[in-house]
Amino acid sequence: MRRHRAALALLTAVLLPLGACVLLVPQARVPPQPQAVAAVAPTDLGVATALHGQAAERVIAQVRGSTPMTQVAADVLSGTGRVTALRLVNQALAADASDTAAPAVTDLGQVVLQPDGSAVVVLGVGTSGDGSASGPVVRLPSATVLPLLTATGVRLRELAMTRASSTAIVTASATPTPAPTAQAPAPTPAAQPTTPAATTPPAAVAAPAAPAAPDCAVAPCIALTFDDGPGTYTAALLDALAAKGAPATFFLVGRNIAKYPEVVAREVAEGHAVGNHTWDHAWLTKISPEDVGSQLDQTSAAIQAAAGVSTTLVRPPYGASDEASLAVLASRGDAAICWSVDTEDWKNRDAAVTTQRALEGAAPGAIILMHDIHESTLAAIPGIIDGLRAAGYTLVTVPQLLGTTTPGQVYRHG
Ligand SMILES: [Zn+2]
Repeated sequence: MRRHRAALALLTAVLLPLGACVLLVPQARVPPQPQAVAAVAPTDLGVATALHGQAAERVIAQVRGSTPMTQVAADVLSGTGRVTALRLVNQALAADASDTAAPAVTDLGQVVLQPDGSAVVVLGVGTSGDGSASGPVVRLPSATVLPLLTATGVRLRELAMTRASSTAIVTASATPTPAPTAQAPAPTPAAQPTTPAATTPPAAVAAPAAPAAPDCAVAPCIALTFDDGPGTYTAALLDALAAKGAPATFFLVGRNIAKYPEVVAREVAEGHAVGNHTWDHAWLTKISPEDVGSQLDQTSAAIQAAAGVSTTLVRPPYGASDEASLAVLASRGDAAICWSVDTEDWKNRDAAVTTQRALEGAAPGAIILMHDIHESTLAAIPGIIDGLRAAGYTLVTVPQLLGTTTPGQVYRHG
C-alpha cells in the first residue's frame, strides 16, 4: 500500500499540471485510436441510453438514500470519456514507470468520485471485502474528469461533492474498448480485464430501490425546453447542461438532424428528452392533415435513425395548432407540448434578458421556451439553471414533468 500511496502522490503531481491541457495536445507516445472512438456508434449510444436511464435512477436513489454512500455500479464515464480516461491512465502509468515497460491498462476497474470533484481510478480490481481499494490508483483532477462523465456521472459527482464526508464509489462497467496504446499488452498481475464485473455485487444496481425520478407532485419542477435544433451551439449547450447536471427537452427540426446526428444521439444518451418540431418548421394550421402527418413522420424517422428512440411529444411551430392538426396528432398518439414561459430569446438575443424572463416566469410546473440555435441562449443557460435552483426548483424533462400524456391534448405546463 505504501508503494501505491507514493505512486498516487507522484501521479497526482504529474497529472495536475497536465490536467487542463492534456486533452488538447496530441500525444506522440500514445497515438489516438480512431477505431476506439468509432466503436461508439450513435446507435450504440441510443441503446445504451435506455439502460442508462433506468440504471441511473436506481443508482441515484440508492446513493441519495444511503449513509454512508455505498458501493454502487453505474456507467459514470461516457463512451468517449472512457477512451480518454484509459489514455490518461496509461500515460500516467508510463510516466511513473519510466524505468520499466509500462503495462497497457485495458480496463478502468473502479472510478471513485471524490468529494473534491476529482476521480480516482482504481486499477487492478483489487477490492477487499469492505470495498476499500487495493490496486494501483490514478487520480484524474476535477477539471479533467468532468467532461468524461455521463449525465449520471455528473449527478453522482455532485452528490459526492455535496456530501463531503462520503465518497461515491462507482464502478465503471467492464468495457470491450481496447486500450489506446500501440504497445502489446503486457501481463500485469493487478489488471485483469475480465474481473471487474465481479467486484461490484450486481445487487448494488438491482437493489429494489424506487425509481428516483423527481416527484413533481411534491417538488416544484420546471422543464427547460429548446426548439429548432440541432444546430451550431447544441453540443456546447449539452456541455453546459452536463456541467450542471441539468436535464432538458429538445424539440427537433427534422431537416437539421442529418447535419448533427451525433448531437441528437448525445442528447438522448445524456438523459435529455427529445420531441418532434416538424421537418421544416411548418405551420400545422396552414398545411393539410396529410402534410402534418408527413412532417411528423419524416422527423420521427430521423430521430429514430440518429438516436434510436421514438417520441410522442410534438411542439407545434409557433405554438400553432387547430382541431384538424390536433386530430392528426391524436391519431398518431402524439401530444402537443407548448409552454408557459416564453423567454423570447430568438428576439432579444441577449443572455441577460433571456435569463431575466426565464427567472421571472418561473413557477411550479412551468415549461420554459428557448432555442438552442442562438449563442446568447447558450450563454444564458448556466445562470438560468443556477437561478432556478436557488429559487428551489427541480429541473426535469417534459416526460418527467407531465408523465403519460394524452394524445391530441395541448399541454402548456405541468
Ligand atoms: Zn420553433
